[in-house]
Amino acid sequence: MSKRFNFPIVVIDEDFRSENVSGSGIRNLAEAITENGVEVVGYTSYVDLTSFAQQASRASSFIVSIDDEEIGQGSDEEVDQAIEEIRGFITAVRRSNPDIPIFLYGETKTSQHIPNDILRELHGFIHMFEDTPDFVARHIIREANKYLSHVAPPFFKALMNYAEDGSYSWHTPGHSGGVAFLKSPVGQMFHQFFGENMLRADVCNAVEELGQLLDHNGPVAESEHNAARIFSADHLFFVTNGTSTSNKIVWNSTVATGDIVVVDRNCHKSILHSIILTGAVPVFLMPSRNHYGIIGPITKQKFSAEYIAKKIAAHPFASKVKGRKPRILTLTQSTYDGVIYNVEEIKTLLGDTVDTLHFDEAWLPHASFHKFYQNMHAIGGDGRTRAENATVFSTQSTHKLLAGLSQASQILVQESQNSHFDMHRFNEAFLMHTSTSPQYSIIASCDVAAAMMEQPAGHALVEESLVEALSFRKAMRKVDNEFGDDDWWFTVWGPDDFSDEEVPVQSDWMINPEDEWHGFDIEEAGFNMLDPIKATIVTPGLNIKGRFDEMGIPASVVTKYLNEHGIVVEKTGLYSFFIMFNIGITKGRWNSLVTELQQFKDDYDRNLPLWRVMPEFVAKHPAYERIGLHDLCQQIHSMYQQNDIARITKDMYLSNIEPAMIPADAWDKMAHGQVERVSIDDLEGRITAILITPYPPGIPLMVPGERFTPEVIGYLKYIEQFNAQFPGFESDVHGLISKKINGKKEYFIDVVVE
Ligand SMILES: *Cc1c(COP(=O)(O)O)cnc(C)c1O
Repeated sequence: MSKRFNFPIVVIDEDFRSENVSGSGIRNLAEAITENGVEVVGYTSYVDLTSFAQQASRASSFIVSIDDEEIGQGSDEEVDQAIEEIRGFITAVRRSNPDIPIFLYGETKTSQHIPNDILRELHGFIHMFEDTPDFVARHIIREANKYLSHVAPPFFKALMNYAEDGSYSWHTPGHSGGVAFLKSPVGQMFHQFFGENMLRADVCNAVEELGQLLDHNGPVAESEHNAARIFSADHLFFVTNGTSTSNKIVWNSTVATGDIVVVDRNCHKSILHSIILTGAVPVFLMPSRNHYGIIGPITKQKFSAEYIAKKIAAHPFASKVKGRKPRILTLTQSTYDGVIYNVEEIKTLLGDTVDTLHFDEAWLPHASFHKFYQNMHAIGGDGRTRAENATVFSTQSTHKLLAGLSQASQILVQESQNSHFDMHRFNEAFLMHTSTSPQYSIIASCDVAAAMMEQPAGHALVEESLVEALSFRKAMRKVDNEFGDDDWWFTVWGPDDFSDEEVPVQSDWMINPEDEWHGFDIEEAGFNMLDPIKATIVTPGLNIKGRFDEMGIPASVVTKYLNEHGIVVEKTGLYSFFIMFNIGITKGRWNSLVTELQQFKDDYDRNLPLWRVMPEFVAKHPAYERIGLHDLCQQIHSMYQQNDIARITKDMYLSNIEPAMIPADAWDKMAHGQVERVSIDDLEGRITAILITPYPPGIPLMVPGERFTPEVIGYLKYIEQFNAQFPGFESDVHGLISKKINGKKEYFIDVVVE
């Protein structure tokens, strides 16, 4: 292990770099370690190290020196202080790493001075002069290697071994461990950019010793078991094509043609694709929305057998289905903006009403590692109950908030009290959607992303995200307070009051009816929460009641500005944009955002021309060259205001859009070409053949088979007008096809021929 990686042994000794005699012993030891081929990194204080968390996780062991004189002969206070320092260091290390060897180094026998709680955490006490430095060095290196050999989880370990093996292969991929790239200049470039290991590890599933993702055997299965244990699931499957595919697998495993399915209207398009693929009859639950355009919870009273039965009875197609028992309920568990549900309550309310409860937790894989999220996620440890009869699925994008490569995803299963989950049957659906050539680096990243969350490390990582997210919110408030009431600043959407503690407290973040901050029309407390690691930043211009202010700063201008200054945000709305605090968050990242926002404010207040503040944007859109930043914001703001766009979008999403056929039947029309492309001026009464999804927010507005409403048509016409007026700030609506006719962009949509 130690030859392949560079994991130095870290020494902490105040005399490490000095020429004192008192440091000579530890320096001799360090020299002996280096002579045995292992790097040593020395620090002279704990402070150096704690500010370098990355250095700490790159260590293969620690040698912590206790100053002999202080402990042995120093005053009681000095002794206490030295011990306190050591204790602080060990506690900090053990908070995320119970296994790394820590050695204490002393010059005479002193372990009797060390309290038990510290001794317990040590791998040894090194006594200078009792053994030769070389002997001690080899002992430490052996322990360090033993530790490193347990760091890699099963699949990743097998893949590394295979890639290093150097065996000749006759199987795909055709680049043969990267060798093919070396035969061409551009291939050489590719090879140098990605590096040999990535290419050597890109193997095909004919390699037996790595196991098969498709059959869940060998090291792949070991890793899936390992991840299941870490995520407290009964079963867990890695998926290498994103949660888009995980969702389809779950659906195809349990939903058949003509089944009634109950679906969050605010769902990801992969769920709508699943509806089309399975031929299900969807009954939608409508979430609330506030005037910022933020999608809120589906209210609790809708999660009852009675409400769902009523919805089904009133549905033109679902009411005709025999039995009427919903096959699945799919819920977006953590919306874009971070709204989540109390799953324990949902299991109690519907655990006997619906066969399968499916939580789309693309944004919530971190929740089971911190008590802050207790009960507010689908599957976890600490005494979570099982639903009476419903199997619970959670689909998670490991790549969104944990450390997976793009497309890394996983499906978690919790069996019900009364049924058994048959993984062989389930796997038939898995096979339907999984490539027979899965990407092994993605599987390895699923494996590693899970192993990184092994407790207590998972807790420490999630807590760090929570703490940073809270610090960011506090920093934004501080700026706001300094500017005072007469000046403007950005706000972060969330509760008005939260505790001063460093770590957020669940009760502060609950979305309760008596609070105004959220702007949702809800009746029950304790059912929903806001995940603080998702931060929606609200720009001035529109208040929570839906009224426009005189002055306004559309979010799209802010995010374009930020983009040009090296800050890319996740999603932009009308007067809000959104960032998230994943486990890769750094203080530098969010502090840069705060300072860039201050730059924006400064440039805005001075109305600096766009050629100065957004030169890249102006290069693409010269028409804006001499407009001031303030003036541009005001122009777009007026356009929004004149069209009352906040109300239009809210009404449109909440409007009663009626299905004229089930989605799969509309798709059949597409497949058979029984569709026509009509101008948005002629949509009245027509049936859409495709999904229509405005970005932002990227939530489907219309599903194939639904009839256009005046609200939707009005919105599309507004988009046409807006896009013509503000090129460069276009709203993108998926499903809208633009054509230039006589120099003017016109918009069309594919509708069903009836
Ligand atoms: C991103 C997302 C998905 C799809 O996940 P991918 O891993 O990108 O395929 C599914 N559901 C929700 C709610 C998402 O946000």
